[in-house]
Amino acid sequence: MIRKIEELLKRSGIPVFGYAKTEGIKIYGEIEPLPFAISFGMVLSRSILMTITDRPSLIYKHHYRTVNNYLDQVGLRLTELLEVSGYQALPIPASQIIDWENQFGHLSHREIARRAGLGWIGRSGLLIHPKYRAAVRFATVLTDLELPGGKELPFGCGDCFRCLEACPAQAITEDGVDLRKCYQKLREFAKIRGIGQYICGVCIKACL
Ligand code: SF4
Ligand code: SF4
Repeated sequence: MIRKIEELLKRSGIPVFGYAKTEGIKIYGEIEPLPFAISFGMVLSRSILMTITDRPSLIYKHHYRTVNNYLDQVGLRLTELLEVSGYQALPIPASQIIDWENQFGHLSHREIARRAGLGWIGRSGLLIHPKYRAAVRFATVLTDLELPGGKELPFGCGDCFRCLEACPAQAITEDGVDLRKCYQKLREFAKIRGIGQYICGVCIKACL
């Protein structure tokens, strides 16, 4: 079954994936947890990230939506594969926030990816992949298919503080990320003509 999953992911052009146990993961909203998770991610375009200044660009907004949509399509295909093979599967959308102020989705894709050994949680609060840095968007499929856990990576930001300097909300400090300050800035950005969405991207670009 794992071979079939990996074939599907590779055929779908997914460059980053791994497996994790979900024990102890916080789940929000109407869903029931399943014990294992497939974490998979697409890499954002470097050229598009370079169009971000101290605010999101219109082309980044479109790219962000396209990548999230593609991840959701892959989640659907994984779910179908698991369910026709007799397993339970629950695809968690790449970007569906259910509590904006605290920035919670149904679960933390980055915590699942961290447990899967795909990176560490950086000073920006984002999952930092050793090669693609913060430029990976993740989605998750929960399942009852028994999957091996990943080898967690140690914190690797070292003496880099670029995202602290770049954040237009001064939301990132050595003590963590002030989600309320970040959220206020995202609200401001959403009012920019043509953006209309709570996105930023500045700390992703800073990490490249
Ligand atoms: S998303 Fe933007 S405002 Fe929020 S922490 Fe990152 S750089 Fe700062
Ligand atoms: S920009 Fe530097 S400090 Fe911030 S998350 Fe990336 S590696 Fe860590």
